[in-house]
Amino acid sequence: MKLLLVLSLILTAALLVVSFAGAAELAPNELGRVMILEYHKIDYPEERWTRTPENFRRDLETLYAKGYRLINLGDLLDRRIALPAGTTPVVLTFDDSSPGQFRYIEANGSVQIDPKSAVGILEAFIAEKPDFGRGGTFYVLPGASKPNRLFNQPEFEGRKLQYLVSHGYEIGNHTLWHANLAKYPEATVRAQVAEAQVWIQRHVPDYRTRTLALPHGAYPADVSWVLRGSAKGMSYSHDAVLMVAGGAAPSPFSRTFDPVRLPRIQAVEQELAYWLNYFDKNPGERFVSDGDANAVTVPTARRDRLRDELPHSLRVVERGPEPPESPVVTLTQDSSARGAGRAGRAR
Ligand SMILES: [Zn+2]
Repeated sequence: MKLLLVLSLILTAALLVVSFAGAAELAPNELGRVMILEYHKIDYPEERWTRTPENFRRDLETLYAKGYRLINLGDLLDRRIALPAGTTPVVLTFDDSSPGQFRYIEANGSVQIDPKSAVGILEAFIAEKPDFGRGGTFYVLPGASKPNRLFNQPEFEGRKLQYLVSHGYEIGNHTLWHANLAKYPEATVRAQVAEAQVWIQRHVPDYRTRTLALPHGAYPADVSWVLRGSAKGMSYSHDAVLMVAGGAAPSPFSRTFDPVRLPRIQAVEQELAYWLNYFDKNPGERFVSDGDANAVTVPTARRDRLRDELPHSLRVVERGPEPPESPVVTLTQDSSARGAGRAGRAR
């Protein structure tokens, strides 16, 4: 009888361990990589630069189910990642302010956000899953021709930009009209960047873009031209410059994190599937939060990858043992090479 009791206690304990392991299977690793996803059109049909509304919704569902949670790019740059333990940050970016990203429609006598536009889909999903978080950066084109000029509804331009800012999204600089910055002299590059902010501020006074996404992925002759300066009576200052490809970004706590060359993953079926699968197969490469915004938890064996300068308030916590090593180097290089090949064709 006593033996039976002991056995059942052991069994219960074992079951508890198993179920706990299932719920928190990813050990914290804040030196893992982060996906910055890059969307273009949300529209029909699905194409190289277009994701359908249904597929975009499915992307959000997949990310959520796999433990990814939304943060804004600004939080990543500030190294302020306040997520529950065991979850992974993901950043959404939307380039070129095409109509399907943010559309208002008239329905039942009132103006509403089109539930089939990216913002409508995001808002509906966040309402269902509040713990998904919220965020996303919209790299708008204030001076482009139709249909890429501020989401293509002139009467709602201001309302949309104000909505984004007041609902936890970011507006990013993508130049005034998508200029290929590699082709222009300093004065033109600076004017393109400054004037984009001038036009944004007509709708959202004093709004300053924190990041710039390079049109076509093309760097100007000197990257400092887009980082800070002034032109057209407007000063600007950017903390990061985003490329159009390059794979998952290094952790912002890692020595290899370079905000002036932030890589992105083009959110099309093949690329997204590749990277989701990559992190499923290589969980040790994935950024996993420790649940404490004031601590940075790193595997002991990787401690030397931590960058020297970190916010003073951050505590470093070491965790062993090392997650299983995996053939990451080969995969990463392949992906970067593929991404680089596409950079020239990016919108
Ligand atoms: Zn673009």
